[in-house]
Amino acid sequence: MGDVQVPDTISTATKTTSEENSGESSKGSNSNQHKCAVCSSFATKCCTGCRDIHYCSQEHQKQDWTRHKMQCSPFILKTSTVFGRHFVASRKLKGTSLILEELPAFCAPRGMVDDFETPLCLSCCSVINELPIDQVGKCSKCGWPVCSLMCEKNDYHSKNECEIFFKSKLAFYPPGYSVYELYKVIEVIRGLLIKDKKPETWKKIMDLQYQTELGSKTLFDDLKSVRKDFKVEDLGTDGEWNRILGVMNVNNFTMAGPRATPSISYEAFLFLKTSMFAHSCAPNCWWGITIFPEFKITVYAAEDIQKGDIITLPYTYLYSAFGTHMRIEFLKRNGDYICRCIRCVTKAELGSYASALKCFNCESGYILPESPTDSNSEWKCEDEECKSVLESRVFDSRIEYLIKKLEDCETVPELHKYIEDNKDVTLHANHWLITEAMETICKGEPSESGSSSEALAEKDKLIQYCEHILKVKNIVAPGISLERGRCYSH
Ligand SMILES: [Zn+2]
Ligand SMILES: [Zn+2]
Ligand SMILES: [Zn+2]
Ligand SMILES: [Zn+2]
Ligand SMILES: [Zn+2]
Ligand SMILES: [Zn+2]
Repeated sequence: MGDVQVPDTISTATKTTSEENSGESSKGSNSNQHKCAVCSSFATKCCTGCRDIHYCSQEHQKQDWTRHKMQCSPFILKTSTVFGRHFVASRKLKGTSLILEELPAFCAPRGMVDDFETPLCLSCCSVINELPIDQVGKCSKCGWPVCSLMCEKNDYHSKNECEIFFKSKLAFYPPGYSVYELYKVIEVIRGLLIKDKKPETWKKIMDLQYQTELGSKTLFDDLKSVRKDFKVEDLGTDGEWNRILGVMNVNNFTMAGPRATPSISYEAFLFLKTSMFAHSCAPNCWWGITIFPEFKITVYAAEDIQKGDIITLPYTYLYSAFGTHMRIEFLKRNGDYICRCIRCVTKAELGSYASALKCFNCESGYILPESPTDSNSEWKCEDEECKSVLESRVFDSRIEYLIKKLEDCETVPELHKYIEDNKDVTLHANHWLITEAMETICKGEPSESGSSSEALAEKDKLIQYCEHILKVKNIVAPGISLERGRCYSH
């Protein structure tokens, strides 16, 4: 952009009161159209922190900094062929610092695909079947499921599909739809209603990336009959329905519902800004979403981020504990998305060896994928003298067998035995199946209590496991990450 950095007068002044290093001004490329935020005269400079605010002079920028620093964005938008649109840090960001808070453009509950019978509250996403009988409710206006009066009155429901279904007298619910499809329709309706209600937001939604084919098949083959069944023929066009579905395929964030036992419901969100952060399976930021009714996403830095670094997030927490091979499979299946993050493209996953098998031939080397993001890749022994090759088919059956074995472990001693039998025998000690087994043990109640020698030995073992898990997570999920936090909570 050819920005001219003018002397750093403001940032030096502010450094004494804040760690942030922003407020340098530079010539913005399109500064001609802008007015100074202080005096409204012709502005030739813009804040390099956010490029969102303009000034006539450095004096006025300096004058405004105390006020503006509260709003100055710590990231700026960039585009690249690899990451598409993404954000980079506009200044040094300290670990744990807040990067962004954002409310959803819209959201909707999301049920399970093969479920045909579990209605979810249209506002808070509770599983209605599991509620105490006095809380089970139907909206007094439209008759669709809400768990309480508070949820009936909540804008997510009352200002969206409730008005439509009330007018059309559409009873809950058109037969033949799975709970997943049912709430997917609600999701689209809520998205489409933004077009008239908030045109500015709609423009931004239309500006997001989208992918209309999900795992190479569309969700609704016949949109006409869907729209007829839900009596919403007049709402949007087929193209707009597909567009909202496509935008959500690529950009949605999900969070488990309040009564998700076990994982029966999710809330799906569209966050306009947060969805533009680059995804990484070894991210430098993490996020959390507050519970109903606020639903605010908070993005924070897991570790120190340098000025100019790409800010990365995990799009989903569901697979973050898996090795690359598994993650790629899931990401592809659920979002038609092939990850090219630094963890996915390095054979040994940043040196963690979280997917490596022990070589069956030389018994000392480790087997790694030749091209890690290709699920049909060959796997090859790292040992220069061995170089044994495993076809992807053979690798797949081997790993499936080991996953099945872990799933079959029902007791803590069986899990201990699984670890003993496989750690550095069939799998690298850092393999994700080993850390999964260890986490399962650490999560449970210790089988021996008190201070007998057995109990102490078991506690020692748990400490060893936690240390081992942390060692691996320090590589793939460094800093203040969910993965590490989970370990500390054991
Ligand atoms: Zn001015
Ligand atoms: Zn700024
Ligand atoms: Zn509710
Ligand atoms: Zn209603
Ligand atoms: Zn990745
Ligand atoms: Zn070997």
